[in-house]
Amino acid sequence: MAASYPKLQLRDLGNTGLKTSSVGFGASPLGSVFSPVSEEDAVAAVREAFRLGINFFDTSPYYGRTLSEKMLGKGLKALGVPRSEYIVSTKCGRYGDGFDFSAERVTRSIDESLARLQLDYVDILHCHDIEFGSLDQVVNETIPALQKLKEAGKTRLIGITGLPLEIFTYVLDRVPPGTIDVILSYCHYSINDSTLLDLLPYLKSKGVGIISASPLAMGLLTDHGPPEWHPASPELKSACQAAAAHCKKKGKNISKLALQYSLANKDISTVLVGMNSVRQVEENVAAAEELATFGRDEETLSEVEAILIPVKNQTWPSGIQKS
Ligand code: NAD
Repeated sequence: MAASYPKLQLRDLGNTGLKTSSVGFGASPLGSVFSPVSEEDAVAAVREAFRLGINFFDTSPYYGRTLSEKMLGKGLKALGVPRSEYIVSTKCGRYGDGFDFSAERVTRSIDESLARLQLDYVDILHCHDIEFGSLDQVVNETIPALQKLKEAGKTRLIGITGLPLEIFTYVLDRVPPGTIDVILSYCHYSINDSTLLDLLPYLKSKGVGIISASPLAMGLLTDHGPPEWHPASPELKSACQAAAAHCKKKGKNISKLALQYSLANKDISTVLVGMNSVRQVEENVAAAEELATFGRDEETLSEVEAILIPVKNQTWPSGIQKS
């Protein structure tokens, strides 16, 4: 019989009135982005996540060229629970064949996503990786289009996502208060890169929900290591693998340590970790429960931080704003 866990902590998603579980389910792995995932495993992972208290699921038409949305849709349908019991975000503007943040494309995109997800509405519709488009187009054309979709009841909330942190201030400073409900930042609140920390006071002052994704730095902070396409420098990859090896030698798990590091900051509404199996779901929920009960493993954390000092806050270029 499976172990039973207490329910995960719920945190306010900014001023939205929604409460997200501290651990959110990142569904990009369901698009076989990291490794092949069967439909059976995908559905089972979603079911186990919900059973253990995860109420937030994030996907995009970009992940696995729409496969992630389809898999997540099947998993959510199989739950057989009222729609109000889970929170779903998907994205628009980034697709398997490129970027298009035009009003026409994002308006069409939500209908396509809803069909694949088998849902009538999503809770959050994000503009996906806006640094690859014109930020002024996002402000003046995409966000107004998303507001119409909100009025039409196709999404409850509007968000923006991307890698460079300056995109968030650029957009939030140029839209009326309350227009953007949430932001999704990735790879900036993990042991090797914690630069999101400096932006938290600003984001809180704007009242937006703060979603921090990729606590395992998209596979860098795992025993398995990152996928082939990972954009980190060879130096960053090898430092993270040295950190993982150090943990393993001590009988510790780098992924658990990394997830607990991200979860420990309660200004972050939810930490999105990508999961593709029941085992990963159970490990990640157990990591959250262990953190709540025993706190962080400060000794191992400082050893890992020492290994990562030479690459601390090292990131990679993303988008067309900067080369
Ligand atoms: P992540 O840091 O969460 O790492 C995911 C990888 O770690 C996958 O290979 C997964 O199988 C593996 N993993 C998960 N739990 C593990 C465990 N306990 N032990 C060992 N390995 C484990 O990176 P991610 O999946 O890219 O990010 C999480 C989610 O955040 C995505 O799925 C997506 O939903 C979202 N995201 C959004 C954006 C964006 O909007 N631009 C960017 C990145 C991520």
